Order: sequence, then C-alpha cells, then structure tokens
Amino acid sequence: MKNLLQSKIAYLLVFCGLCSCAQAQKIKQKQVKIIISNLAADDMMGRKAGTKGEKKAAAFIAQEFTKAGVKPLPGFKNYYQKFTHQGLNMLNVLGVIPGKSKNKKTREEIVVFSAHYDHLGVRKGAKEDSIYNGADDDASGVTAVISLAHYFNKQGNNQRTLMFVAFTAEEIGLVGSTYFGKQLKKSQLAKIVAGINIEMVGKASKFGRKGAFITGYSYSNLGKILQENAQGTGFTFHPDPYKKYNLFQRSDNYALARHGIPAHTISSVDIANDKHYHQVSDEVDTLDIENLTDMIKAVALGVRSIVAGKDTPTRLKMK
Ligand SMILES: [Zn+2]
Repeated sequence: MKNLLQSKIAYLLVFCGLCSCAQAQKIKQKQVKIIISNLAADDMMGRKAGTKGEKKAAAFIAQEFTKAGVKPLPGFKNYYQKFTHQGLNMLNVLGVIPGKSKNKKTREEIVVFSAHYDHLGVRKGAKEDSIYNGADDDASGVTAVISLAHYFNKQGNNQRTLMFVAFTAEEIGLVGSTYFGKQLKKSQLAKIVAGINIEMVGKASKFGRKGAFITGYSYSNLGKILQENAQGTGFTFHPDPYKKYNLFQRSDNYALARHGIPAHTISSVDIANDKHYHQVSDEVDTLDIENLTDMIKAVALGVRSIVAGKDTPTRLKMK
C-alpha cells in the first residue's frame, strides 16, 4: 500500500511537471505570428505616440484584451488610460484578470506584465520604405503580453491578480510608464509583487536561441525564480550582459522599480550587433517567430509559482 501510494505520488509529481509544460503548448506560433503581424503592419504607421497610428494600435490591443477576458481596471470604463504630453493626447492600454484565490490578500496581490507599443512613426522624405514598423521594438513584447493574457485566461487558475499593460511613449523617454507609475497610490504599489516588462524578444540572444537576459538580475530574486521554473524547458534566463547600457533604468520596468517593486525587463536583443535597431528595416520577416513563441512559453512557465501565490520575489535592493 505504501509503495503504491509512493508511486502514485511520484506519478502525480511527474505528471504535474509535464502538464504545466503541456499547458504552455497552448501558446501557438501561428497566433503569435498573427498578433505581431498586425501590430507591426504598415497601416499602424510606426505607432508613434500622439498620432493616429498610436490610436489604431491601442484599439487593436484593446480588442485582443477583450478576446483574452481581460477586464478594465476598477473605476475605468475601458482599457484606456489617457493623458496629455506636450500638447498631444496619448494613451496606455491596460486591464486585469482578477485573482481567483479564496484568500483576499493573495487575490488582491498583482503581477504586472508590460511592454511598450509605441515606436518611431514615419520617416520624412524617404522614398521607398518610410515606416518604422518596430516589429522587434517592441511589437514583440506587446505580442508576448497579449499572448500571456490569452494563456492565463485559458488556464483560469491564477491565484493572484494579473495586470497587462501596453505603454505608450517609451521612445520619447518612458513617458507612458512614468505616467502609469505616478497614478498608483501607495496602497496599490504595495500590492504589486512583481513586474515583468518585455522588450525586444523577437530574435535569438547573445546566448543563442532559447535564451534571454533579465535586467537588474541581482537586485531581487525574481530572475532566479524564473530560471528555476523554466528548468527542463531548454530555455534559459541570464543576468544582463550589457551593464554599460544601464538598461534597468532605461526601460519601462523602472516606473515600478523606483518604488522598490521587483520589476525587471526581459529581453533577447543582441544590442551590440542588431543592425535593425531603430531602423525602418525592423520588420516581422527579420524575426524568429518560433523563438519568440518559445520565449513566451518560458515566461508563462517561469512566472507560474508567482502567479499561483507560492513564490513572492524579494523587494528590490539595488546593489
Ligand atoms: Zn526603441
């Protein structure tokens, strides 16, 4: 009997380990391709903050959020967080999948997934290609955020609340995320247990395919948790190899990180060698969509113990 019980437990452990991997298989490359192709299409006109292209991209993200069962924030009638910057109307797009825990504290704790959807617009005076499609920067990250929303909605067992945010105006100085951070009250900031910002994840990293880095890796144990949870998937998370670029402070994670929240950016950009960076040639056909899909799966599995309320990353200590 004891042996039978033990083997049953062993079976369950193995089965559950496999089943979370199997669950992540629900993230389909075909869907990922459709989402990123929409976001980086020419008719989004480079998604520059304060332009028609930005509004069009925001409407597409809102439509995906609706399909993914994401709800507007309490007190919001839709997903738009509107503000004015230098006389232009801009908007972040955000919403939540409420936590399912019976424990009120756990249910109200928040894991934020974010990426910026704005890019550089249209190049003036260019004859042939004039549109900055920003497929990698950062349609790839927004595609990851949308895909994660679809995934967690289908899972339907997130114990903590999941917030999904597409920031505008990153390219003109982290304007959208800074605005977002400033709107949060102290009591709301205290409820955010982790921030996962996703930036330029459309190509193989310096570490090869199935690899990404995490900025500010040593400032909290969030990276370590992701690494441990992703074990066995073949995907690896590494500390940021580009210290001199100071990416931790130069990405949208910083709006939360400055309040001590373990908010980091995940990226695979090979920054020293990427010839499409901030060029009109940053198009979908330069990306590795299979690798992007693997990345999204790795993040989904990487955060699962945090989403389940089992792991809480340490608060940020910049050292
Ligand atoms: Zn950029």
